Amino acid sequence: MSAQAMLMAPKEDPWDSALRQFDRAADHLPIKRGIREFLAYPKRELTVHFPVKMDDGSVRIFTGYRIHHSTVLGPTKGGIRYHQDVTLNEIRALAMLMSWKCAVVGLPYGGAKGGVVVNPKELSQSELERLTRRYATEISILMSPEGDIPAPDVGTNPQVMAWIMDTYSMHRGYSTPSVVTGKPVAIGGSQGRVEATGRGVTIVAREAARMLGMNLQGATVAIQGFGNVGSVAAVLLSKVGCKIIAASDTRGGVVNTKGLDAGKLVEHKERTGSVVGFPGAEVVSNQDLLEVPCDILVPSALEGQITDDNAARLKTRLIVEGANGPVTPAGDDVLRDRKITVIPDILANAGGVIVSYFEWVQGLQQFFWTEEEVNENLERIMVRSFGQVAQVSTERNVDLRTAALIRGIDRVANALYIRGIYP
Ligand code: NAD
Repeated sequence: MSAQAMLMAPKEDPWDSALRQFDRAADHLPIKRGIREFLAYPKRELTVHFPVKMDDGSVRIFTGYRIHHSTVLGPTKGGIRYHQDVTLNEIRALAMLMSWKCAVVGLPYGGAKGGVVVNPKELSQSELERLTRRYATEISILMSPEGDIPAPDVGTNPQVMAWIMDTYSMHRGYSTPSVVTGKPVAIGGSQGRVEATGRGVTIVAREAARMLGMNLQGATVAIQGFGNVGSVAAVLLSKVGCKIIAASDTRGGVVNTKGLDAGKLVEHKERTGSVVGFPGAEVVSNQDLLEVPCDILVPSALEGQITDDNAARLKTRLIVEGANGPVTPAGDDVLRDRKITVIPDILANAGGVIVSYFEWVQGLQQFFWTEEEVNENLERIMVRSFGQVAQVSTERNVDLRTAALIRGIDRVANALYIRGIYP
């Protein structure tokens, strides 16, 4: 029985998609049935319901999760998401993706993910701090510098990581910076971490363009989601010569086929909270943004955005997945038939976890690198990983997602064989 059938997740939810992708790649590998099932299950899942005192004196109960998918290659690593639509299955899927992502780029980590069902924009700064400190305390039975190291994801940022680090340190009685990554540099964060995911997206876009014979000078780019990943990718892609023609966030999108000034768009978003209203641009809906004719499409918002429904209407040559899981497996099938190249999330957005790894190493050694050293090492790992995935794709005649998953799953399975099944 396949892992997908075994766990019987509902159709098209993120966990179902993650299992289908897993099955597709695992079919190419000689993994024994029991090992395959073991790799499909999350290792441990924690659900917490916890109270937070609101500014008006009332108490609200929130629900949060922390899931470790695999500890085969090392301690677990994965972001914490604050979003009103967070579900257990979404966090499961993202934890599993983190396992393959760390493995495909050669990091000594297993996958994890956490989340709280909350719209952080509806909380005051002090409510957000109290929620974060309580959630951090609730999940501290799973979190440690040696065991599980969270990082930012959608709705969280360096300040949230600072509160988690401080909360954990208060309970220990001494400063423990390596318990989280993505911290502000002032308290042990790494140079280059904020830009790392967008920088990695830019590096793989460049490598993919080279592979496809596409000239980046003047190549048009549309970006869905203008948060940490999307905005940095926009700035860095424009620096290498691309023309950013469309961008969006939760409130809507903007388009200008003559090009948007990425730096000014970032300033506008910082000032107004949205890309909407950017001078000289036309308004476009989030769905229509995906269908804007462009050379490179960078989905950098949430999962499940490109499906078998809209994949047929995309007018792009290359998709670089800044977000985790933005294309459903059925959407992937349509894109493959249409010969649209997809650089999968577990490769394309791995820059964040790579520099998080550098931050963790720097924190443990109390020896800090320059931004140049961080960026050089990031570039080296991204280029090497892209080349390895492209090689598997050619050798096995599979798309790049399946190739990346084959590499990631194979590495974890191999380590599991060597470690053995306890006891
Ligand atoms: P973020 O919260 O900084 O930004 C998310 C952006 O997406 C916001 O601008 C939001 O307005 C926008 N958005 C949300 N829903 C949208 C929708 N339906 N249409 C258009 N825009 C929408 O989050 P982030 O850290 O940039 O993460 C974005 C994606 O990248 C997520 O899938 C995350 O898991 C993935 N990712 C992030 C990192 C990282 O280092 N931050 C690393 C790897 C992967």
